Amino acid sequence: MYDLVIIGAGPAGLTAGYELAKTDKKVIVFEKKPQVGGLAETKVFGEYRYDIGPHRFFTKNKEVYDLFLEMLDEDAVEVNRKTRILFKNSYFDYPLTPVNALFGLGLFESIIIGFSYIFARIKSYLNISKINNFEDWVVDRFGRKLFNNFFKNYTEKVWGIDCKDIGSDWAAQRIKGLSLSTAIKFALFPNSKKRPKTLVDKFYYPRLGAGMLWEKFEEYITKHNIEVSKNMKVTQVKESGEHYIVSYEDAEGESQSIETKNIFFSNPLLEFIDIFEGDTPEEVIKSAQSLEYRNHISVHVTIDKKLFDDNWIYIHSPNLKMARIADFTNFSKDMSTEGTFPLTLEYFCFEQDEIWKDANDKIIQFALTELKSIFDEEFNVIHSEVSRNAKAYPVIKTGYQEHIDVIKEWLSHLNNITAVGRSGMFKYNNQDHAMATGLYAARTLLGLGDFDPWEVNVDGEYHEELSSN
Ligand SMILES: Cc1cc2nc3c(=O)[nH]c(=O)nc-3n(C[C@H](O)[C@H](O)[C@H](O)COP(=O)(O)OP(=O)(O)OC[C@H]3O[C@@H](n4cnc5c(N)ncnc54)[C@H](O)[C@@H]3O)c2cc1C
Repeated sequence: MYDLVIIGAGPAGLTAGYELAKTDKKVIVFEKKPQVGGLAETKVFGEYRYDIGPHRFFTKNKEVYDLFLEMLDEDAVEVNRKTRILFKNSYFDYPLTPVNALFGLGLFESIIIGFSYIFARIKSYLNISKINNFEDWVVDRFGRKLFNNFFKNYTEKVWGIDCKDIGSDWAAQRIKGLSLSTAIKFALFPNSKKRPKTLVDKFYYPRLGAGMLWEKFEEYITKHNIEVSKNMKVTQVKESGEHYIVSYEDAEGESQSIETKNIFFSNPLLEFIDIFEGDTPEEVIKSAQSLEYRNHISVHVTIDKKLFDDNWIYIHSPNLKMARIADFTNFSKDMSTEGTFPLTLEYFCFEQDEIWKDANDKIIQFALTELKSIFDEEFNVIHSEVSRNAKAYPVIKTGYQEHIDVIKEWLSHLNNITAVGRSGMFKYNNQDHAMATGLYAARTLLGLGDFDPWEVNVDGEYHEELSSN
């Protein structure tokens, strides 16, 4: 009999394992993939390494930060952050600087942006702006013109829905604390002590990619008697008296079961509801079915030319489907061999979209055509591969919270089952939040107090940039 089964060896599951590794609890972590790290894994194809998308570790939680540094030790490399936005063939610094915006957009466009910003602020001051969704929120803070230029197209590329259908709480969470005036102020006075974390320009990164951190966690917990069982997909969770029977299958489809007293799950909430055998109320199933996840495609290419020295570039240009591009040599020189540059080009889609089912070769050719149209330079492709990341982004659609509340209420009545992490909680959690949910769940299990994982990231502690991750 196990004390705990953890579904998923991503940041949430492994951090929960870390906390329990210090105890005598009998714990097993099941991971369906051959590798740990979840969405934060580093893909390794022979000598070529890529993250599925750029991962910058940032947290306001000191405990989580200390844990990150403790695990990586000398393998944490300091990175100077450089991020730009590509919009209509011009590059804009992130954070946006007035001079840069002026040169990029031209005097006329900049004046219109300025007026539209002043107009929005006056409306807000007079309390006449109605804020019902993401679009309203951004227009209120930045003005209609800047919304149309910088936010609308990119946001719709990432989420696949109209900005009017995206909840305003997502904007409030992601770009809270950053207004146009703040961005301008800190561009003019970059050394101000009150510089918000959003604009932090240095970060630590694992020497061999984001996934290196999670491989270290795996090594640590397995040394401390926690089993990590990879290539094992959990297929069913069934109540059995006060305990649960967890069934799982290996890559060949061979099935086995074990009994456990507790379960932490970090697999997508919808999928958990699907594999849970019990009297799940109809309204929970309906709520789960109305939640949507956005899929993510990473096109990995290693080339023989350095095209840019940014960590990543947001592609806001409406004529390109690509959302972001990263060069991992700008994170850590150990991500590749001399003279080779591993890039990840990111695309977003829904499961039913054509591109999700397209052959890898077709996707790679398409991505390379877009890449060449941006840089207009000659280069050779040394390696290329595609990875598909299903359900990578929970879609924060207007009204989603009501459905989550229904599911949360149901979950609260299931004994000893705890949702953790990003997909498991259907929450826009980053690595640090996912880690905190794992720590909280483990501490509650150990009887150390009532640590509620749902309390992590309630107020959007992670202040990200104008574009989303
Ligand atoms: C493109 C992109 C960029 C990002 N950038 C950043 C960034 O810059 N900074 C940052 O901090 N965060 C970033 N994130 C977010 C970060 O990757 C996630 O917050 C983190 O990985 C969530 O951890 P998790 O453990 O909750 O879930 P996941 O990482 O999703 O892990 C869940 C695990 O469960 C496994 N699993 C699923 N179903 C089953 C099953 N039935 N049986 C067994 N195993 C199963 C999965 O294979 C997976 O390994 C980014 C995410 C994406 C997609």
